[in-house]
Amino acid sequence: MSETEPVGENPVARRVSDWNADRLADLAAEYGTPLYVQDIDRVRENCERLRDAFPDADVRYAVKAHTGRVVLEAVREAGLDAECASAGEVDRALAAGFGGDRLHYTAVNPPARDLDYVVGVAEAEPDLTVTVGAVDTLDRLAERGYDGRVCVRVNPGVGAGHHEKVRTGGAAKFGVPYDRAAEATRNAAERFDVVGIHAHAGSGIDPDQLDSHRELVARMGELARELAAPGESAAGDAAPLDLEYVDVGGGFGVPYREDAPALDLPAVAEATREAVAPLPAGVDLAIEPGRYVVADAGVLLARVNTVKPTPDERVVGVDAGMTDLLRPAMYDAYHPIRNLGGGRESGGRDAPTPGDRSATPVTVAGPICETGDTLCMDRALADPARGDLLAVGIAGAYGYEMANQYNSRPRPAEVAVDDGTAAVVRRRETLGDLTTVERDANRNRTDRTDRTDRTGTDR
Ligand SMILES: *Cc1c(COP(=O)(O)O)cnc(C)c1O
Repeated sequence: MSETEPVGENPVARRVSDWNADRLADLAAEYGTPLYVQDIDRVRENCERLRDAFPDADVRYAVKAHTGRVVLEAVREAGLDAECASAGEVDRALAAGFGGDRLHYTAVNPPARDLDYVVGVAEAEPDLTVTVGAVDTLDRLAERGYDGRVCVRVNPGVGAGHHEKVRTGGAAKFGVPYDRAAEATRNAAERFDVVGIHAHAGSGIDPDQLDSHRELVARMGELARELAAPGESAAGDAAPLDLEYVDVGGGFGVPYREDAPALDLPAVAEATREAVAPLPAGVDLAIEPGRYVVADAGVLLARVNTVKPTPDERVVGVDAGMTDLLRPAMYDAYHPIRNLGGGRESGGRDAPTPGDRSATPVTVAGPICETGDTLCMDRALADPARGDLLAVGIAGAYGYEMANQYNSRPRPAEVAVDDGTAAVVRRRETLGDLTTVERDANRNRTDRTDRTDRTGTDR
C-alpha cells in the first residue's frame, strides 16, 4: 500500500505496524510503562501535508488534542496558528511562543475565570481573537471592557462525527443557530471588531462523510456572502461586514482501523474550496485540525501483567487502562494494538517478535475497577504472554490529554522523539503527586490550627 511508504517520504498515514519495534522496546525498557511516545518528526510531516493541501488557508492547530510544549513549538515553527479552548490552553500556547496574532480562543460556556484571564491577555496581545458561540458570552466580554477581535461561532445544523459525544454540529451547546447567525454577527460588529465566522462540526470527516462536510462548508460560504453583501438579501439595509476569514473547523479523520483508508487530504481540500466558493474578496478560508496533526505521531506502550483464560474469552491484563487512554471506554473508540513480544514465555527481551505466534482473540483490560476499562475486546492479537509489550497505536491525540488519576493511578510518562532523539517531556507521576493538592490544603488547615493553639482559643 502506498500509504505505508517508509517514514521520510511523508506517508499519508503512519500505522502502528510502521513503528520500529526495537526502538519502542528500548524506550519501554528505559522509561518504564505505561509510556506515551510522541514523534515530533511525524507531527512536522502532518503539518506539512496540511499546508500543502491548504496552501491558501489559515491553518490553526486545535491545541486540546495534545498540549505538550514540544508539540506546540513544533506546530508553531511549522507555521500553524493555535486554537485554544480554555485559559489553560491559551497560557500554554503563549508559553510556547505563539503571539496574539496567532492565538484564537474559542469560548464555550466560558467560566468567568477564563474570560477574566483572556481579556487580560488581550490587553497585552490585542491581535488575539475570541470566538464566541452565544450572544450572552458577547455581553460578558463587553462587561469586562473587551472590544477587540471577535469571531462568531455558528451552529450549522449539520454534523459529522464518529460518536454522538463528539458530534457537535447538531448540538445546541455549540454556536449561534444558523438562522440567527447573520443578525447576531451584525449586532456583534456594533460592539466588537468582528473578523470571522466559524463552525466546527465535531470530529470525523472521512471519505463517507464528505457530503455533510461539504454541506457545512457551503452554508458557511453562503453566510459569508450574505454578511459581505447584505444588499442582495432580506437584510438589505444592513452595513456590509469586512470579514477576514471563514473558519470551517477541524475533524479531519485519521484511520484508526488498520484496514481503513487514510483521508485523501487533497480531495477534502478541493471539496472544501469548491463548497465555500465564491468567497467575498479578502476573505480567507481557515481550518482547525487537531487530531490530524498529532494522532498517528503517538503510541501508548503497555506491558502485559496477567493472562487469564476464561470459558468465554482470553483476558490480557496490562498496566495501562482507561485512566491512561480514555477513548475506548468513553467513545467505544478503536485503537490498533500490536504485540511487540519480549515476554517471559517467549524467552525474554531478546526473543523474536511474536510474528509466528497464532492470532488469538483477546480482551485487553487495564487495572481500573470498571467494566469499561478495556483497550479492545475480542481482538485477534499475536497470542500475548506475560511480560509482552503492547503498542497501542494512533494514541497521540486526546490520549495523554484525557489521562486522569481515577483509582489513584498516577498519570503515565511521555517521551518525545525529536530528530531521532528521545527525551522525557512529561515525567511519570508518583504516588506523592496524587496527594499534592490535598496536602497543600491540609497544610493550610494545620497552620490555622497552630495559630489557634498559640492564641489559646478552643474551637
Ligand atoms: C476539538 C476542536 C477542533 C479539532 O477537532 P479534531 O477532531 O481534533 O480535528 C477544532 N475546532 C474546535 C472548535 C474544537 O473544539
